[in-house]
Parts: sequence; structure tokens; C-alpha cells
Amino acid sequence: MHADPRQKPLHAEQTAFPIVDGMLHVGGMPLDRLALRVGATPFYVYDRALLRARVAHLRAHLPAQIALHYSIKANPMPALVQAMAQLVDGFDVASGGELSTALDTPMPVQHISFTGPGKSLAELRRALAAGVMLHVESEREAEAVAALAQELGVRPGITLRINPPFELKSSGMRMGGGAKPFGVDAEAAPALLRRLAGQGVQVEGLQIFCGSQSLDAQAIMAAQSSSFELALQLAGEAGLSLRVLNIGGGFGIPYFPGERALEIAPIGAHLAQWLPRLRAAHPHLRVVMEMGRYLVGEAGLYVSRVIDRKQSRGEVFLVVDGGLHHHLAASGNFGQVIRKNYPVTIVPQQPQRSGGGATERVSVVGPLCTPLDVLAAQMLLPAAAVGDLVVVFQSGAYGLSASPTAFLGHPAPAEVLV
Ligand SMILES: *Cc1c(COP(=O)(O)O)cnc(C)c1O
Repeated sequence: MHADPRQKPLHAEQTAFPIVDGMLHVGGMPLDRLALRVGATPFYVYDRALLRARVAHLRAHLPAQIALHYSIKANPMPALVQAMAQLVDGFDVASGGELSTALDTPMPVQHISFTGPGKSLAELRRALAAGVMLHVESEREAEAVAALAQELGVRPGITLRINPPFELKSSGMRMGGGAKPFGVDAEAAPALLRRLAGQGVQVEGLQIFCGSQSLDAQAIMAAQSSSFELALQLAGEAGLSLRVLNIGGGFGIPYFPGERALEIAPIGAHLAQWLPRLRAAHPHLRVVMEMGRYLVGEAGLYVSRVIDRKQSRGEVFLVVDGGLHHHLAASGNFGQVIRKNYPVTIVPQQPQRSGGGATERVSVVGPLCTPLDVLAAQMLLPAAAVGDLVVVFQSGAYGLSASPTAFLGHPAPAEVLV
């Protein structure tokens, strides 16, 4: 393909789901057959072989001493979380509901951590009874944990979540730097850590999470270096021997035209350089990376069916049976500033019909009575007819559970793991 300067940037090529005899395959199964098996559209499908391959890819490039945790909030489907329990070293939960999901898996409790501002006393009590690691987010929460620990007669392991003075540059969602509701400001941490040490809790270490959805390896490495420097400094000031240092993840996946996959190898090499220095200062240290999107996002598809095809003043609209009530992020309403299309394709109901590779510029809209309900705007797609399937790629993370399913009262979609 030769470069045409007028050419708009393209989506990264979708190669994870093979096309065999003109039909997209998921988990070794033709998608039209899978739709029959599920019984109704719309649905989400997640491919366990892709989950395995993604974790293997990370393990191949990251130092073996790095513990890999899955953040359940990216996709809390219980069957998927069970599958992840076989693949990763730990889970991070962010609510009592996610705690229940995690505790139903074989994951050892000491490798489950509980993060999030505003944990209720009921959630803290359950977490302490379960014996999971608490990432404490504020001074009040630290005191509540100490009081509950005394009441229950347990000595919990906690880490303190730090709000760092820096952020992950170029990340999709900024979670650190400046005033934030997450964690304790780094400046205030040493005093709090010293105070906590005498209060019946075991301070195991620190969590420093400074951003997510970055496709820039250099920016991630810079944030990791800053996190390590800060951890060493705070531990030194507080006289703390670190057993756990959770540096978050920040790894992104390519969603939009022009975006390309993150390179993991340089990040792994960079971590390998840091580990000896960290271990020299803190011999029992376990460095944890926790991430959601990067592990599961590319393993999932959202599949809906064309129920109407219409023209309005020269533009073609495909009306499908799914929409923003199931997939808010693909509609562009989950934190995006400018709406951009996710990668989308058409899977014809009758593959033999996909004649000639004809394409057309169309908008894919959902059944909701709002102009926000758009799954693809003005996108060049294979020509589609009523009954064809519309596939939204990159839908394994922040899909169904991040969508307003009650809006307009349509039924919830199925979710399957193949
Ligand atoms: C949401 C969250 C994550 C996961 O972020 P991803 O972008 O899905 O990788 C990790 N750690 C914390 C503390 C989070 O809140």
C-alpha cells in the first residue's frame, strides 16, 4: 500500500480473530454459528485463548520477578475472572461485589488486593475477615482499618496508596499528579506511615498508580522510574522495609485510527534494570503490576445485528439491536473528549453473499432514542444488509459493566467465554 497524504489514519489491523472462508472465527468457531449458539443478539464474546496468549506475551517480556495482577473492574464476568485466576498472580478488586467474585476463584487471598476511595465500613470488615490486602486510600480509612482490625482480632497487611506528584504522560486517563481523590499525597505519606506502624496493622508497602491507557513505552518507563524513586524515598523517610510495591500498569491498547500497539520489550528491559537496585534496598520486595484493559480488552467482541437499513439525505444508517446501553465506550461517551470510531466490521449472514468486496460509508446506530447512540460514525465498511452481524472489536474491557444497561429498558446482552 502506498502512502497517500490525503489518506486518513487507519485502525490498527485486527488479526486476533482469523477470517476463514470469508467468516470471522472466535475461539475456533464461525461467528454466525456462535450467534446461533448464544441464541440472540446482541452479545459479548471473550476468547480464552487470547487471554492466555496475552498473559504469555507479557511474561515473555517482563522480568519473572514481576507479579502480574488483574484489575477485575475492567471485566468482572465471573467465568472470565475464573479463567484469569489460572493465568495471573493476583487480583485487584475495587468493590465488595468484585471481592465476592474474586473470592469465588482459587486465587489465594493474600494475592487479592482491594483498592478504591470510599470503601464502606461493611466492605472493610468483609475484606479484613477474608484476609485480603487493603490498599488504604486516606488517613480516615487507615484509622477505620486499625479500629476494625482490633475489633476483629486480626493484624491485616495493608499498603498505602500514594498520590504521586507526577503523572503518566500521554495516558488516556490521568490518575496522579496534582489534587486527586485517590490515595494520600506523597508529602503526607511518611508521617502517616510512621503513625500506622504503631496501630496494629502491618504496613507491607506502597501502591503508586499514575495513569492508564498509554501506548507510549517511553512515557510508561519514565513513570515507572519516577514511581521507583518515590517509593525508595518514602520508604526511607518512613523507615519502612517494603514487601510490596504496586506500580499499577498503564498499558494501553489501540482503539482509534492511527494508534499502534504498545511495545512491551523495552519496558521489560527497563524493569530488569531497576529490580536489582530495589531488591538491594528491600530484599523481600515483591513488585506488582496491576492492569485490566491490556489483559482482556483485545480478547472481546461486541456483536449486534442489523435490524434496519435506511438512507437520510444521502447518508446510509445501519440500525442495529445493540448500542450505548451495552457498550458506552464504543459510543464515545465513556470519558472520550472527541468521539472516534472503534474498529468495526460486518459479518454477513450468508457468507456466500459477501460478493465483490463492495464497501460503503455508513453510520451504525443503536435502537435508543438519542443521537448519542452511535457505534460507528461515517465509517467505510463492507456493504451490509438487514440480518448481518456488526462486530465491534477491542470490546473486552470496560464494556458491559461500564454501560448504562437500564437506560431505555432494553434487555441486557448475553456474555459468553469461548
Ligand atoms: C482501573 C485501575 C487499574 C486498571 O486500569 P487499566 O487501564 O484497565 O489497566 C489498575 N489499578 C487501579 C488502581 C485502577 O483503579
